[in-house]
Amino acid sequence: MSTVRPGLPGATRECPHCKEAILESATVCPGCRHHLRFEAGAVVAEAATLTPLRIEGSIRHPPDGEPWEYNVVVSIRNDRGEEIARKLIGVGAINPNELRTFTLEVEVTPAKKRLGKSGTRH
Ligand SMILES: [Zn+2]
Repeated sequence: MSTVRPGLPGATRECPHCKEAILESATVCPGCRHHLRFEAGAVVAEAATLTPLRIEGSIRHPPDGEPWEYNVVVSIRNDRGEEIARKLIGVGAINPNELRTFTLEVEVTPAKKRLGKSGTRH
């Protein structure tokens, strides 16, 4: 969870479905894609979401050799190069001739000023 105060851009809450830290303003959880009930402070109309960064790539194991084990790690650095988040997304194995495709998406939404008062949530 971030330390950003409720009501400010970047403030987070916990998704009631998957328990991931999500933006307070989210109306759909980007992790599990469940719709979230309205809470005071949430943006009423769904703001336009842009995807300024999307990377997709596949790895195919050669037809022979030992299986590979993999770790998928995503990190975020600020403009000073300091790592502000690092997360192990998933682990697994790829057997000979198997394919895995990995997609990274960064979605951005204009952070409108909220109508609700801040600091009144649970
Ligand atoms: Zn969720």
